[in-house]
Amino acid sequence: MSTKIKTINPYTGKEIKSYNQFSKSTIETYLKRSETVFNTWSEEAISHRTKLLKNLSKNLIKHKQHYAALMTEEMGKPISQSLAEIDKCVFLSDFYAKNADQFLADELIETDAKESFISYDPLGCILAVMPWNYPFWQVLRFAIPTLTAGNTALLKHASNVTGCALAIQDLFLDSGFPEGCFQSLIINHEQVENLIADPRIKAVSLTGSEKAGKHISKISGNNLKKAVLELGGNNACIVLKDADLDKHIATMVNARMQNTGQSCIAAKRFIVEESVYDEFLEKFKAKVVSLQVGNPVKEFTEVSVLAREDLVEILQKQVNDSVKKGANILIGNKTEKAFFAPTILTDVKPGMPVFDEETFGPVAAIIKVKDAEEAYKTATNSRFGLGTMVFTRDKSKAKKQILKIQDGAFFINELVKSDPRLPFGGTKASGYGRELSKEGIHEFVNKKTVYINS
Ligand code: NAP
Repeated sequence: MSTKIKTINPYTGKEIKSYNQFSKSTIETYLKRSETVFNTWSEEAISHRTKLLKNLSKNLIKHKQHYAALMTEEMGKPISQSLAEIDKCVFLSDFYAKNADQFLADELIETDAKESFISYDPLGCILAVMPWNYPFWQVLRFAIPTLTAGNTALLKHASNVTGCALAIQDLFLDSGFPEGCFQSLIINHEQVENLIADPRIKAVSLTGSEKAGKHISKISGNNLKKAVLELGGNNACIVLKDADLDKHIATMVNARMQNTGQSCIAAKRFIVEESVYDEFLEKFKAKVVSLQVGNPVKEFTEVSVLAREDLVEILQKQVNDSVKKGANILIGNKTEKAFFAPTILTDVKPGMPVFDEETFGPVAAIIKVKDAEEAYKTATNSRFGLGTMVFTRDKSKAKKQILKIQDGAFFINELVKSDPRLPFGGTKASGYGRELSKEGIHEFVNKKTVYINS
């Protein structure tokens, strides 16, 4: 009897659908199809592939309401944010449709040869293991550049968004990508391990937790396969005494609360200079309290449930353990099933889980510091390295910190966010490799040296 994977609506607690986990022979069929289609797909002109991206953009727009509703149903994202996620996917698809040709063109390099250049060749079938927090965006930001470079892809999506995984597979098919070019597998962790070891899989891309990252990188390392790892973070949001609070407070709250706090690049630690601390806290709290909390299908909802009930328990433990170590609850820390109320913790210090670990939910940890020097030092006191943001009127002084920030991103007067035009990725326990931009499309290619003598 085959194992079932069930999807559950986290707001209603009701089962949505049940899926049969793939058997060994089904996985073999998918792998063979992927390998076969690679032979023709890799030889298609890039202009053909980018033409299909234009179809993909059109289909995303056409089915926007359906895709958004599916995400909201499977993982509880407020519907306005689900719709915005599809818009962002269209932007991504349009970006590569316009620029892939140039990114993948042979790069001439003058040497002693008559002609020498780098040829950006596809690798083959790439395995992606993806999370549930941005069910469409995470997958497409991997798949669009990877397929456009001439590879094929197999996806193991997070189990709780299996409906989204299958919808994305149909999206590629309906947009004219050949059958087998992009396929979603309904498989468990052990089956992922076996796939990584299979010689037909050429590389792996994982977006997920640090724990999954360590596991996947070990297996891919043992099999000498390249891996791109996009893992967790506990980004600092530094608020200096000259920050324009009235202008930026909504951005700071959004940096923590968007997607109900379930974002890798969310501001998780607010590091505030003491001379502006009281004013910041008052304004920050007022904005958090004003957020519309409730049913994710309602148009005006800004914060809703977490994606699964078990995630509430993890967050609750991190908060409670931090309180035991001296943190104070300013507001929130109320839970019911998959719901976790927007929460502000003050008097947070290193050594508390909400400072040291990633908190994946609407919990803001506030840390008071003496001055800017201590603020930057506290920000970099982290095992993670996704990004840092600072709010200050003195941009040139902030720019002097660029070298000292060890993260994948440094944003001044803006929340850390992804943009198809800019590379995205982390350092330290946040992983390695880059997605998006020219850097992203070059992750899964063979940068081949071609040397032609007279
Ligand atoms: P997760 O538990 O690590 O799961 C991510 C994916 O990996 C899922 O498809 C999961 O499958 C699979 N997986 C987990 N352990 C595995 C193993 N041992 N072997 C094979 N597959 C395994 O993470 P999550 O809770 O879904 O997502 C939240 C995490 O992702 C957070 O830490 C967040 O910061 C991170 N994230 C990072 C970025 C970034 O760009 N840096 C972006 C978004 C999210 P199952 O669902 O079947 O368990």
